[in-house]
Formats: sequence, structure tokens, C-alpha cells
Amino acid sequence: MPLIHEILPVGLLHCNCSIFGDEESKDAIVIDPGDDIAGIQAILDGHQLKVKAIVITHAHIDHIGGAAKLKAITGAPVYMNENDQPLYDHLDTQATWLGMETPSRTEIDMPAREGDKLTLGGADFQILHTPGHTQGSISVWIPAENKLIAGDTLFRDSIGRSDLPGGNGRQLLQSIADKLLVLPDEAVVFPGHGPTTTIGRERAVNPFL
Ligand SMILES: [Zn+2]
Repeated sequence: MPLIHEILPVGLLHCNCSIFGDEESKDAIVIDPGDDIAGIQAILDGHQLKVKAIVITHAHIDHIGGAAKLKAITGAPVYMNENDQPLYDHLDTQATWLGMETPSRTEIDMPAREGDKLTLGGADFQILHTPGHTQGSISVWIPAENKLIAGDTLFRDSIGRSDLPGGNGRQLLQSIADKLLVLPDEAVVFPGHGPTTTIGRERAVNPFL
């Protein structure tokens, strides 16, 4: 049975927060709870889901801003690649860029490294380390669902910025080529912002690739 998958654009920058749920166990994985924890909670409640993991694609405030609050409510562990810890340590600086209040921070409970795997309802959530937008950027590949959560690495018709601290344009292109474009053409891509796409479409028409 396919997983429940709801996408909620959260916060000022409309970060796509993905909520995956297993109909049977009622377990859920939330990816990138950047903000609007009340909205995320409403979706969880609507499906009677219980969060068992919070996964962060990278430590930019629009993706990680609500992690501490969601963890406080659910008790679920937070997964993030350790290479983004310095960015998370300077959440106050990021808040200043956006002219917003600094959200509360939390401990990262589990690393999210290349080859790591979470499971939900029998589906693997495979962690791909895709540095370039930030040094700790990850993408999450879910083969059973044919879905890729791409964070800010790959967008429809675009790629992530590499001009922010920790960014590296050559590394970003290398990550996309080595880790993402090797996935099946039909793989559906859910970028960190904006509309969905497929690997085949981006391989064919993305002007940055
Ligand atoms: Zn970002």
C-alpha cells in the first residue's frame, strides 16, 4: 500500500514540508518542518499519525526552523547530516538575514549520512549525501514510492543556490550528476520549494544541467 504523503508549504519562503505516513502502523516521518508546526500537526492529527522521525535536508532556517518545536511536541528524534551543524549553530545569523525572530534550537539526535536508511511501512528512505547547496545537504530517495525529496539541491528547471556560506557550485553539479541523475527517469522529484518534477524531465530540459 502506498504511503500517505502530504506536502505543506511552510513559512515565509514556502519550504515544501513532506509528511509521510503509514496507514497501518500510523507511524510518520516529517521532512523539513521549517515552520507552521500547527499546520503540520493538523495534518498528522487528520490521519492520526505519530511522528517517529524528523528529517532535515539541510540546516537553512526555512527547512529546520520548526524542528525543535516539532520534536518538543512529538518526542521524535531529529536526523541531520553533521556537516550542516555549523550552519545550525548560527541560526541567529540566518534569522537576521530574513528579518525574523530566531526559533528555538535542539540537539541533533541522529546523523543522516550517505547510505543511512530509515523505514516506514516497509518502504526504505535512503539518505543520499548531496553537498553543494550546503555541505550537509541530503536528498531522500524512496524507491518503493519512486519519490525523491531533493531539498534545495534540484528544482524544476533550476538547481540550488551555491553562493551562500557553505555553498559550492561545482560540487552541487557533481552531486546532482552522481547521486540524482542516476535515478530512474520516472522518479518523481519533490524540491524544497516550488512544483514537483521528474528526473527524466530535468535531465532533458533543465538549463543548468
Ligand atoms: Zn536552502
